[in-house]
Amino acid sequence: MSAAEATRKVMLKIMLLGDSKVGKTSLMNQFVSKKFIEMYKASIGADFLTKEVMVDDKLVTMQIWDTTGNARFQSLQQAFYRGSDCCVLVFDVTNNSSFCTLHKWRDEFLKHAKPSDPDNFPFVVLGNKIDLEDRQVSIVQAVNWCESKNNIPYFETSAKEDTDIEQAFQAIAKNALGIRE
Ligand code: GDP
Ligand code: MG
Repeated sequence: MSAAEATRKVMLKIMLLGDSKVGKTSLMNQFVSKKFIEMYKASIGADFLTKEVMVDDKLVTMQIWDTTGNARFQSLQQAFYRGSDCCVLVFDVTNNSSFCTLHKWRDEFLKHAKPSDPDNFPFVVLGNKIDLEDRQVSIVQAVNWCESKNNIPYFETSAKEDTDIEQAFQAIAKNALGIRE
């Protein structure tokens, strides 16, 4: 690796998608700021936060985009999704319908982002709110779905209790960089 390559700044654009209330904003805030706040105002349009992480001795900046599912903003989706390096599909393990709509979010993303190689575009799925008792989606169901979509990596998280957030975002960064383990 040349000196120029070693110091070149890497910026990864990461999209968080999924139904409203699944915990996208909470996951982003827990990862970036180590904070969990019970109530958030609904995201308007899309917002991003950045965090620097080390991936295999390389410093990369993750630019994490938190979106709203609000139909009013769908005309903006194309502009937001373009140039993404990884798309994170989030569902709530206590809400079956948020799991059933994952395919819709995946299709929407591919339609608007228009990646050059859609079959191999890096997605990561997060099943959030595993701290809650009333689970409706099993690990097996989630893993099966991910396997059926060209082996999307799957992580279970709790934004509330900070469970596996670091591991999940580390995998997200690696997938965005094209590293699959
Ligand atoms: P978003 O609409 O996808 O951005 O979801 P939010 O981050 O706004 O979260 C929706 C609600 O779920 C809020 O009341 C959060 O406090 C709550 N929430 C988010 N993540 C978790 C979690 O891991 N566990 C629990 N118990 N609640 C969560
Ligand atoms: Mg939100």
